[in-house]
Amino acid sequence: MELVLALRRAGVTDPDVVATMERVPREAFVPEAFQDKSYQDITLPIGHHQTLSQPAVVGLMTEALELDDRKKVLEVGTGSGYQTAILSPLCRRVYSIERHAPLLEEAEKRFEKLRIRNVTTKVGDGTLGWDAQAPFERIIVTAAAADVPPILADQLSPGGIMIVPIGLTDDFQTILKVVKTDHGLETEELRDVNFVPLIPEEATGT
Ligand code: SAH
Repeated sequence: MELVLALRRAGVTDPDVVATMERVPREAFVPEAFQDKSYQDITLPIGHHQTLSQPAVVGLMTEALELDDRKKVLEVGTGSGYQTAILSPLCRRVYSIERHAPLLEEAEKRFEKLRIRNVTTKVGDGTLGWDAQAPFERIIVTAAAADVPPILADQLSPGGIMIVPIGLTDDFQTILKVVKTDHGLETEELRDVNFVPLIPEEATGT
């Protein structure tokens, strides 16, 4: 299957991540017009100028989170809900924030249909995190930020891991793995990527 090959090429080896990505139907998250491209390793448009991430990148970011069934995860940028659906069986609970209400509504319908029950969502600015539910053992941001969002770093548990794409221009974007240690934040670059920007609420437009 093309998806599994793409994951292998990207160096994703965690058997639980690979099995979950094989099981979750990506076509359920892809708009009608692109159904035939559901299992290609490409980003796909989901409306509101947003995109569904490429499977290899979803796999890489998920693997880098080092999940298990005790982890509480914050996701910023629900989008289609595909990444959320991959996180769901690999952790205890996902708290997911999306700034576009119509996108979130669609995503919630998909969760219902696929019987995904351990996901709590809200519409809002994910750069502010989710104070009432903090701290989180894991945080995943699926839109590119200029830098590690400081409030999200505050809401990360000691020893916690945050995966965030950094860089707002096409020529410089990378996935950062941030680990919260006793000595502060330790960062490691995972690989170059292409994400739509993370937009704080005070910004205008889409
Ligand atoms: N993970 C998604 C794709 C993400 S596209 C999927 O699997 O489909 C990035 C998403 O982040 C978009 O839906 C965009 O609206 C959202 N986003 C951008 N800035 C945000 C912010 N500050 N808070 C919450 N969501 C944001």
